[in-house]
Amino acid sequence: MPKKITVVISQAQGKNPAKRHLEEELAATLLFDPDVDMSIVPHLYDLTADHTGMLFLKSVPGDMVICSWMFPRAARWVLDRNGVKGHEGVSLLKPAAADDEEEEEEPAPEPDRSNALGGLNLPKRRIYCLDLRDQSDAKVYLEEIQRIAKDCTVQTVDLQSWISGQPKGEQLQRYLNPPVNRLNQEPLPATPAAALLEEPTRRRWYPVIDYSRCTNCMECIDFCLFGVYGIDSVDRILVEQQDNCKKGCPACSRVCPENAIIFPEHKTAAIAGAEGGSVSGLKIDLSKLFGAPTALEMAVLERDTELVADGRDAVGATVGLPRRQTEKPRTHDKLDDLMDSLDNLSL
Ligand code: SF4
Ligand code: SF4
Repeated sequence: MPKKITVVISQAQGKNPAKRHLEEELAATLLFDPDVDMSIVPHLYDLTADHTGMLFLKSVPGDMVICSWMFPRAARWVLDRNGVKGHEGVSLLKPAAADDEEEEEEPAPEPDRSNALGGLNLPKRRIYCLDLRDQSDAKVYLEEIQRIAKDCTVQTVDLQSWISGQPKGEQLQRYLNPPVNRLNQEPLPATPAAALLEEPTRRRWYPVIDYSRCTNCMECIDFCLFGVYGIDSVDRILVEQQDNCKKGCPACSRVCPENAIIFPEHKTAAIAGAEGGSVSGLKIDLSKLFGAPTALEMAVLERDTELVADGRDAVGATVGLPRRQTEKPRTHDKLDDLMDSLDNLSL
């Protein structure tokens, strides 16, 4: 069998016509690409562990490209949490605006991640995550997918093999009698793609841990009072009860000293999984200059709001405050540079 790569388009939430158009353009071309096995799933973050789309993703053993409407780091760790594991595939795609900024920006120094947990038992395959918000031109994605496909080394399996997993009766029926494809209102060939799309999803909200940053410090489990976090069989932190998390609350991402907690749908890029940066989203922490609440104060406030909404008592800063974060000596950062420059001004 010739080598192929699996490409999965993860649909946007809602019905934004520009987003649907880009998905359609990609799907229409990839469907007829002999080097590609293409499928479409609903929004990746909303898939439950037993959704047909997630069962399908788990069944793909070879290299895979995921095109989704979220930061690549968020997509990668959402997949990992669901057992869809692999080494990070490096994409050459960048956000359109990044091209202009490139020359002005000083590249940020690579943080020391030697204490991070990293991925466990990763299979020998690569997962490439492309952010569909980066570019509006489908051609850019298609060229990148072709470049990746040339490098792919692992054989895909027949897509129908997902059925050898543990689909429920109704999932099997959807596969055997695929409905009309809602993507372009035209009948699709009888592929699992249609079946993957028909199963409904609901919007979800939960933290995702980036294990390439997480040092297992347990600050998050101490801070969260809603039973979201747990510990696995090898004493590794994990998001155990995803749906216990309070919709819209990103509190624990603010207390994580490694910026390892991602909420893919949060409006602040650093919390939603952008590379680099701190959850303050600012290169210089203006809160220290102008007296705005610190990240920790915001987290305490957000947690109290959720406790009260649950009919419980607010606890303020008396419970589960990050120890290491407050003890950690602050290194000479850009704020210090700014203050030094101000001191040196002879006004
Ligand atoms: S606070 Fe962050 S670094 Fe610490 S265990 Fe939780 S996710 Fe990992
Ligand atoms: S956002 Fe709030 S409720 Fe959700 S896991 Fe973090 S602290 Fe717990």
